[in-house]
Amino acid sequence: MSDELLNKAADAVLGSVHAVVFSGAGISVESGIPPFRGQGGLWSKYDPSFIEINNFYKHPKECWIQIKKIFYDFMGTAKPNAAHLAVAELEKRGYVKEVITQNIDNLHQDAGSRTVYEFHGNTKRLICTKCGKDYFIEDVNLENMPPCCSSCGGLLKPDFIFFGEGIPQDAYQNSFRAAESCDLMLIIGTTGEVMPASMLPTTAKRHGATIIEINPESSNYTNDTTDIFLKGKAGSMMSKLAEKVINNS
Ligand code: NAD
Repeated sequence: MSDELLNKAADAVLGSVHAVVFSGAGISVESGIPPFRGQGGLWSKYDPSFIEINNFYKHPKECWIQIKKIFYDFMGTAKPNAAHLAVAELEKRGYVKEVITQNIDNLHQDAGSRTVYEFHGNTKRLICTKCGKDYFIEDVNLENMPPCCSSCGGLLKPDFIFFGEGIPQDAYQNSFRAAESCDLMLIIGTTGEVMPASMLPTTAKRHGATIIEINPESSNYTNDTTDIFLKGKAGSMMSKLAEKVINNS
């Protein structure tokens, strides 16, 4: 990676008025959470039917056993990495205004980011499928399967999007509004395969935003949408970019 490209990206961030971050599973890989797709991805090891909404309602106990193993016993212990921390630092200093994430791991918030739109929900919250009461994961006993609502006895469901469900309305509206109004979008670690989230960078581009992308591999955006491609891992690349932005300001 040439310093020239990093300087160009830092200048673009410094010259922007409304920069937005759009992150995918790749930003959390260095926190030990594998992506869903590709080599080593979760779907190369597990059949995703345990998070298909109709299957979940038909076989709640079996699905919950898998959900607990993957999303709570394993993913629940992950900590933010250098990339999440750099994004939070840029937000704190006013260079990043909003963060849109496809991730459900809460690591942007754990790193200190404040304005975060969770396009696919969050594992840390659970919701009763019968009465709508919501819970924090700390307050739910996952030893009894499936976990049920303490008020009405209804089945609890993690508050992230299962296959077959729609995007939460607030997150959808905030994310597309941010994509339409930003003048810079920093895409970190996403293939651009998952609709409708995949439309956010193209929406930003159509509205005139400069697109910076960080990814060790090319994505669906790299050739047609991205203006500055920083090829590399999120942790080191975001640290270098944030350092340049802060030092050059
Ligand atoms: P994806 O699994 O389709 O793609 C991951 C992307 O990350 C790839 O482009 C890959 O090249 C890149 N990548 C891998 N290592 C990286 C690194 N160290 N630094 C930067 N980039 C790296 O992910 P997706 O496009 O985000 O879509 C999958 C969906 O699955 C998401 O919408 C998300 O909801 C969900 N998901 C979330 C998590 C999480 O919360 N951490 C984990 C897996 C999947």
